[in-house]
Amino acid sequence: MSTIWNPWHGCEKYSEGCAHCYVYRRDESVGRDASEVRRNRDFDLPVRRKRDGSFVLPPGETVYACMTSDFFLERADAFRAEAWRMIRQREDLRFVIITKRIARFADCVPPDWGDGYPNVTITCTVENEKQCRIRMPILLSVPAARKQVCCEPLLTRVDLSPYLDGGIARVIVGGESGPEARVCRWEWVCDLYRQCTAAGVAFTFKQTGAKFEKDGRVFRIPRSRQMEQARKAAATYFTGGTGDGL
Ligand code: SF4
Repeated sequence: MSTIWNPWHGCEKYSEGCAHCYVYRRDESVGRDASEVRRNRDFDLPVRRKRDGSFVLPPGETVYACMTSDFFLERADAFRAEAWRMIRQREDLRFVIITKRIARFADCVPPDWGDGYPNVTITCTVENEKQCRIRMPILLSVPAARKQVCCEPLLTRVDLSPYLDGGIARVIVGGESGPEARVCRWEWVCDLYRQCTAAGVAFTFKQTGAKFEKDGRVFRIPRSRQMEQARKAAATYFTGGTGDGL
């Protein structure tokens, strides 16, 4: 089982992948300013208890942290120490932290981080080749129990191959959502799949995004079908199955 924990909400656009950020899009649609960063009511969710004294989040749950912000956001510096305390306390949960701000890692981890809390996966977003060259050397250099790369939204061909033997557990790939989505190309996805296979790194094609190009044709895919289409394509082309891909 998995759950999303958004201890704070709001963010600041940071790199190319942020151009059509869904947090900004959703907030705009309800007249809210996504650049205002505030603590959420759910801030204490990991340590919240039910009337019977047990935790609301049961042991073993995977917790995706900060999906409407960035865990290493500068404007959230005041909130982070308490968030780390909860993460440390709930060593029976698996926390996944996804960040574009891996460059801030050393300034943001707690004093007792050591080689990394065993229950925390650090996932670095790498949306294009430029950010790959900037962020991957940093990701490889930081201590963490488990590291992943998220190429989402995938905006260019990305060469992760020089970095994949450095302890990366999984690469997750996906396109961009929303009305202004940029094209994600099937050939870029396949290229990353080949790189991961060659390096023995797990690979997940999560979703196609709203505009997906294959064999020179651009498909417009509704949000409700983006994950399903990626699953079918992966079943057809990546595992030798018979899925009905694009
Ligand atoms: S880092 Fe993530 S949440 Fe923040 S602006 Fe960029 S895409 Fe949006």
